[in-house]
Amino acid sequence: MTKRDRQRYARRLLEEKLRLLREIGVKEEELAELAREASGDLSSFTFHMADQSGETYRRELKASLTSEQTRTLRAIDEALKRIHDGTFGICTRCGAKIQKERLAYVSYAKHCINCQRSLEGS
Ligand SMILES: [Zn+2]
Repeated sequence: MTKRDRQRYARRLLEEKLRLLREIGVKEEELAELAREASGDLSSFTFHMADQSGETYRRELKASLTSEQTRTLRAIDEALKRIHDGTFGICTRCGAKIQKERLAYVSYAKHCINCQRSLEGS
């Protein structure tokens, strides 16, 4: 995976994250702030809501999240972290490359299709 690929995935992950946050009801100005920061270097792609908005806000936000949204947000953050670490696109279970087709479909996938299948038991 080239640096350019990583940047492309990072951008996509961030877009998905912003979309999800918007869905949850995060205010537009906060999203704009987030997007602005994320356009800088890759290390700023992962952000911590607690740092920015305080504990109470985070609790409120957390309460309004469905478990599905929480899972997806976490998966996106983890994927962004892997992009930063240089391990993005590698299955965290078996170490194989995750198929591009799979990443195109689920950009925050952390398992290759084989591992995913065996984890799902199908
Ligand atoms: Zn695997």
